Amino acid sequence: MALMGHLPQQSEFIEAAIDSTLLIALLSPILYLFLFHPVKQHLRLREQAEATLRKSQETQLKDMLRTSLDGYWMSDAQGHLLEVNDAYCLMSGYSREELLKMCISDVEAIETPEDTAAHLKQLMEMGSVNFETRHRRKDGVLLDIEVSANFAKYDEARVHCFLRNITLRKQGEEALRLQSEITANAAEGIALIKASDSTIHYTNRRFESLFGYAPGELIGKHISIINAPTDKPPLDTATEIQQQVEKNGECSGELLNLRKDGTTLWTSFHVSTVIHPQLGKLLITYQSDISSRKESEEDLQLAAMVYENSSEAIAVTDANNQIIAVNPAFEEMTGYSEEEILGKNPRVMSSGRHDREFYREMWQSLIRDGYWHGEMWDKRKNGEIYAKALSINTIRNRDGSVHRYVALFSDITERKQSEELIWKQANFDTLTELPNRRMFLDRLEVEAKKSDRSKLPLALLLIDLDQFKEVNDTLGHAVGDTLLKEAAYRIRSCVRTSDTVARLGGDEFTVILSEIPDSANITDITQKIIDRLAEYFNLGHEVVYVSASVGITLYPSDACNIDDLMKNADQAMYVAKQNGRNRYSYYTHSLQEAAQKRLRLMNDLRCALAQNQLKVYFQPIINLATGRIYKAEALLRWQHPERGMVSPMDFIPLAEESGLIHEIGDWVFRESARWAQRWSSQFAGNFQISVNKSPAQFREGSGNSNAWLAHLQELGLSGKHILVEITEGLLLNAEHDITDKLLAFRDAGIQVAIDDFGTGYSSLSYLKKFDIDYLKIDQSFVRNLTTDSNDMALCEAIIVMAHKLGLKVIAEGVETEEQRVLLTRAGCDYAQGYLLSRPIPPEELERYLSQHQP
Ligand code: C2E
Ligand code: MG
Ligand code: MG
Repeated sequence: MALMGHLPQQSEFIEAAIDSTLLIALLSPILYLFLFHPVKQHLRLREQAEATLRKSQETQLKDMLRTSLDGYWMSDAQGHLLEVNDAYCLMSGYSREELLKMCISDVEAIETPEDTAAHLKQLMEMGSVNFETRHRRKDGVLLDIEVSANFAKYDEARVHCFLRNITLRKQGEEALRLQSEITANAAEGIALIKASDSTIHYTNRRFESLFGYAPGELIGKHISIINAPTDKPPLDTATEIQQQVEKNGECSGELLNLRKDGTTLWTSFHVSTVIHPQLGKLLITYQSDISSRKESEEDLQLAAMVYENSSEAIAVTDANNQIIAVNPAFEEMTGYSEEEILGKNPRVMSSGRHDREFYREMWQSLIRDGYWHGEMWDKRKNGEIYAKALSINTIRNRDGSVHRYVALFSDITERKQSEELIWKQANFDTLTELPNRRMFLDRLEVEAKKSDRSKLPLALLLIDLDQFKEVNDTLGHAVGDTLLKEAAYRIRSCVRTSDTVARLGGDEFTVILSEIPDSANITDITQKIIDRLAEYFNLGHEVVYVSASVGITLYPSDACNIDDLMKNADQAMYVAKQNGRNRYSYYTHSLQEAAQKRLRLMNDLRCALAQNQLKVYFQPIINLATGRIYKAEALLRWQHPERGMVSPMDFIPLAEESGLIHEIGDWVFRESARWAQRWSSQFAGNFQISVNKSPAQFREGSGNSNAWLAHLQELGLSGKHILVEITEGLLLNAEHDITDKLLAFRDAGIQVAIDDFGTGYSSLSYLKKFDIDYLKIDQSFVRNLTTDSNDMALCEAIIVMAHKLGLKVIAEGVETEEQRVLLTRAGCDYAQGYLLSRPIPPEELERYLSQHQP
């Protein structure tokens, strides 16, 4: 602006200089004509003086143009350059001689020659004009030029131009414009704060949007307006920052700030000072939003806390499966400290219990699915092998490559050991270590299938030791046990390893001779077994002789299903015994006759209910902690007119086979409900009666479950007075409708118990799945209960686990005080057995209860 203000002065001066030159030029001839004589002399002198003056003015003018910092040229009306000064030569890079041969349009960079011609014409009309344009220097560089042009009409038209190089100024202006553009649009929030009173002088757009203000809204406000009240008031925060800047020239950090709408926002800031010529000292602050980083920092902190405090061990490995981090639980579980294990492959902890195939499958699923979970045996630093439940997850990079593996595991050794113990107890005979009945039945099924494929028959041998009961009774159980072990060993020594020898219980063994090419072999092997068992047994101080009776049946010629096969073998064995023992007998069709007998019994059973031969007895169940009796089990009795008392073990299977079980079972249920109602009101408690329900009763439609519930409703009796006893086998093969029926019971408040627990598959997961309420430990475990016995360990394991799963435990077959004490000590909840009472008629139980539990 200052420069533009100066220009007119200069051009006025030039105009004046030109006017006086013109005046002198016009006046000289007149002066000469009128003052020729006598003042000629004087005139000459004056002329000389004037010439000198003119000369000096011209020289002055020329000097001025020559020394001027601005360029100057004079052109004619067509734009031909007639005069230029040194400044323009310097500016344009051309010499004077070169320029005097050039036209304006030769140096003009923006305008076309036509434009220039048009401009000149316009100038001549207007007299003078100021404008900006660009000239091209001789070396091609463009110059920003400010032009002040004047037109003068002498005898010929002349254009005087003063040309100022404003390239630098233009560049400066552009730079400033760019700078403020950048500041205004910066991604960082920028604000200028007056140091004198901490008010905001300037904010860019980002600063306003960051804190939720409208453009210009923050101007004049105190800067503390953006500080959130934390542990100190916003004003203190602002003051503190300003003091820091005063002291160190700058200050930076992270702050919790406040938006206009009251929400908070984390920013990182930097504050420094600038001096403004008018405003004095200003603070300039830069603010960036770091909320999302803060959030992820918090997440990370939380994750780290979980990691540190997790009771599960955690190990992180890199893509090469080298451990890069472990948590404290890992150190505790494995015994390795962080320093020891970092950089190692988890392989160092492997127990050697799993084969290559196991690990190969694990890696395959890790690669395919990104995760693996299962159970694994590993080794602690001290060499101890332990079981862990392990899950491994893969963390991938964006490109899909593996970044990390994260392994989480917990020690499940104790659970595994209990499960193993239960499994072993469930599948093997602890005394002889032979497969038990369950395992035997499994194997029999497998062998039958093999036989189907190979078309080679299978022989089933049922071996019963003769006189064993006498040995047991006279020499005691310990001797009996030793004999059984030795017998098991001898039987095994007579068969191939591929054959199965099992102990069904007591003195009963079975052998499966699989895929027999020649039936003569069967006789040979059987005879060998009989001979070996007939040899004397040296049992410590005693020498004992026993013999064996063996029943033989063939698959598939004698029977095609397992049940029949077992029955056949049993009948054949019975025949061998009948025929004098110490011998074998093949199953024959005459044995069918025995089956006929069963049929007759079954027929008798059909009338038993109608003829009032069936009775329900009740066996009381005692609460071990309180000694009170509010439970009893309903057990069916059959008073046969000719055979006397028939055991339910004998006739329940017949009832199941014939389908009579439904009618009989429903009757038992109604009787039980009746007594439960009576005793509940009589003995002021929730008397509950257990009713046995065999799998067959579940199988046939859903009718009778609903009928049971309907009956309870008729009586107005709540479901809690009934407990249904089922077997584990039912759950194992449970179809949907069985699940539904169990759930219907539960919904009606009827509780469910697993009877004879431990003799079947004993799966804990089923217990949880089916919402079972009670476990009844089978009497076979209770029978031999002593302090340190295996059975004791098993009972304890069952009780602990049942309680963990929220189930109560009833021990069956408690016959001695010792058993009761041990069970009570183990935390068992209830007991039933001969110690308290045998199953008795209801009238008798009622008498008992009214005497003992008024
Ligand atoms: P369970 O349900 O396990 O019944 C327990 C059996 O153990 C009963 O045999 C009972 O008399 C016997 N017992 C009780 N305390 C002792 C003891 O201290 N020592 C010994 N050695 N045995 C004891 P029971 O009455 O012969 O019944 C046998 C099985 O017949 C029952 O076993 C049950 O599975 C079945 N059963 C009985 N009544 C019914 C019924 O109404 N319906 C169905 N489906 N099954 C029934
Ligand atoms: Mg029962
Ligand atoms: Mg039982």
